[in-house]
Amino acid sequence: MTSRKPLVVGNWKMNTTVPEGVDLARAVAAATHFDSIEVGVLPPFTHLWLVAQALTETHVGVGAQNLYWEEKGAFTGEISPAMLRGWCRFVLVGHSERRHVFGETDQDVNRKLHAALRHQLRVIVAVGETEAERDAGTTVTVVNRQLDAGFAAVDVRDLARIDVAYEPVWAIGTGKTATPAEAQDVCAQVRCRLTEHFGTPGADVRVLYGGSVTAANAVQLFGQADIDGGLIGGASLKVADFAAIVAAAKQPAGRMG
Ligand code: PEP
Repeated sequence: MTSRKPLVVGNWKMNTTVPEGVDLARAVAAATHFDSIEVGVLPPFTHLWLVAQALTETHVGVGAQNLYWEEKGAFTGEISPAMLRGWCRFVLVGHSERRHVFGETDQDVNRKLHAALRHQLRVIVAVGETEAERDAGTTVTVVNRQLDAGFAAVDVRDLARIDVAYEPVWAIGTGKTATPAEAQDVCAQVRCRLTEHFGTPGADVRVLYGGSVTAANAVQLFGQADIDGGLIGGASLKVADFAAIVAAAKQPAGRMG
């Protein structure tokens, strides 16, 4: 059996007010406790500190949806890794909305990854192809490019603090999910690319799937050999749905690493 502990993370995006977010975090903590599964939530920046307080002493880790790579200074509207250090467990970099709505490049993702690692944060690096890239048959080329550039100059010793989320852009928030076999193929390819670059430690990086994961499809997706959990958008805002998705990450018998 694989030694990779499944991770399920809720990306709340730009949703909930601060009081709603604190209530949601408490409800998630109450509904998702499994020793064998790591759980996280990524609230908006405005909520982070209060949600972190609400989750102290619980199994649920809190993380940021983004960060900027500079330490401090004249960068209006940005949040630095130094501001998250010590109390935030995760940060997400390279989400497709950051790439496609806000124009972030692979190099920006790489800068953010290094900045987060310098500040002892765990990092979830998101990669994935657009529908046009998929239709053109370039999924693996695109994902490999994002991985190669995103992980440039990363020290192999830092890999244990990095997870990858494979999120096909065409599946995010659309209700169109990759089939378990499609998701498995690309997640296996991600693991293969990391192993080519970093050797054996590359194979131990957790690879999550994200893109319209629901309580109905999570068991099948998480049952795939190279899928180590999920990054969940819309369904993470509904406690019962998110709890069912977390429960689906319990290692199915026979899942092999
Ligand atoms: C996401 O935002 O990372 C995501 C996967 O969203 P959804 O689950 O809504 O497709």
